[in-house]
Amino acid sequence: MPRGDGRLSHELDPQLPGPQDECGVFGVWAPGEEVAKLTYFGMYALQHRGQEAAGMAVSDGSGITVYKDLGLVSQVFDEQTLAPLTGHMAVGHTRYSTTGGSTWENSQPTLMATNTGTTIALAHNGNLVNTADLARELAEIGHDPGGTTSDSFLAAAMLTANADESVWSAALRTLPKFRGAFCLVFCDEQTLYAARDAQGVHPLVLGRLDRGWVVASETVALDIVGATFVREVEPGELIAVDEHGLRSERFANPDPKGCLFEYVYLARPDSTIAGRNVYASRVEIGRRLAKEHPVEADLVIPVPESGTPAAIGYAEASGIPYGQGLIKNSYVGRTFIQPSQAIRERGIRLKLNPLRENIRGKRLVVVDDTIVRGNTQRQVVRLLREAGALEVHVRISAPPVTWPCFYGIDFATKAELIADGLDTEGIRRSIGADSLGYVSLDGLIGATEQPKTRLCRACFDGVYPIELPAADLLGKHLLEGLDKSVARPVNGKTAGARL
Ligand code: SF4
Repeated sequence: MPRGDGRLSHELDPQLPGPQDECGVFGVWAPGEEVAKLTYFGMYALQHRGQEAAGMAVSDGSGITVYKDLGLVSQVFDEQTLAPLTGHMAVGHTRYSTTGGSTWENSQPTLMATNTGTTIALAHNGNLVNTADLARELAEIGHDPGGTTSDSFLAAAMLTANADESVWSAALRTLPKFRGAFCLVFCDEQTLYAARDAQGVHPLVLGRLDRGWVVASETVALDIVGATFVREVEPGELIAVDEHGLRSERFANPDPKGCLFEYVYLARPDSTIAGRNVYASRVEIGRRLAKEHPVEADLVIPVPESGTPAAIGYAEASGIPYGQGLIKNSYVGRTFIQPSQAIRERGIRLKLNPLRENIRGKRLVVVDDTIVRGNTQRQVVRLLREAGALEVHVRISAPPVTWPCFYGIDFATKAELIADGLDTEGIRRSIGADSLGYVSLDGLIGATEQPKTRLCRACFDGVYPIELPAADLLGKHLLEGLDKSVARPVNGKTAGARL
């Protein structure tokens, strides 16, 4: 699916998306339960983490069936497609492409046969940074990407490369070779597995059903299927669930560096990460923003909906009343009809409409979660002024994003980032606001209640906690440029798959 087509986005203009979340992963082991439907709902709760493709693999103990396609969960699956997906275990995935383009071949779960006649289905959230090394290692033993250009394919190929090994021991041997951010949920015919990188960059949680286990990217996916939260899958931990229960082993020493951006923007507000509720973090960011950047005003409004908790916090700490000034059309991001250039140039009113009665004659504080290119905020400021606002003071609940992310989040290119070329005063002028204030990095970190040393802040401060290879060995389309002239692996069974 080309960028912008029907993609849900935090931005006003679907042609200019904000930071793109990486992926959502979900796994359930629950004999006697409708695992495909549980997975469907789990993926539904994780839709915000990836809107390019959705897929699930279901095992009935003797074979694995995969169904996946480009599109949203609700577009890919319906009662008819779910009905034949019966079994005791399932793995689900919602995809945003971080390495490899947005093609059907790269959608997940990735299915791959082992040389012992079994199959694994794998779903990956995050981004590996040593993809080139892994691809070279696989090429040396005769594996071919087979049309796929994703790092997730490489992970599946590495896990199945050795004929004489169980999946468990292959995982323990192979996972320490992966560098970067990865939350993996995978299965063979009998067993559900989950693994998280040693830094635990992105969240992965374990939950309990009456008759089974669930693993998922965020706690909201446990809530939706009625699973109780047990604990996080620990950084550097591999777990397996089968009829004998749950096993766990460390494959790497934990060195936690959780993604700070999850708290600001990526995760759903009703999720909890490392013991800290995301909504509570965002309200606290707003309180700190009010202390760091006070202003005299009549009303605090959010840019809905992601700016809402921080706006509530700002209002609370400043004593300025909180209200709505912009109404969001929740359905516009789901349309496949894109505005023509001519319509777009008339101003983007597709997603937000001003509440003139609340705005007219007021001095406004407008709280948003992040500035990427500045287009959204420029349009919002213009919209509010046209609706009669006397003053517009923009407050942002994250510091300026000035560095790229290599661990699974796709920002605009560095050249597109407004903070790359302009200081705060330059950005204020560019968006036409009366004043502009960003929460400080220390303020943001404090609001998460996590020690600074246990967080990745690289997109804000350029300190990358996982070593990066040379610049020419990084990038979303790296594998599309590598030599593919080696033999194909044995293909797995992909019944029900369609383009
Ligand atoms: S660079 Fe930013 S977005 Fe990427 S993992 Fe680190 S904190 Fe998260």
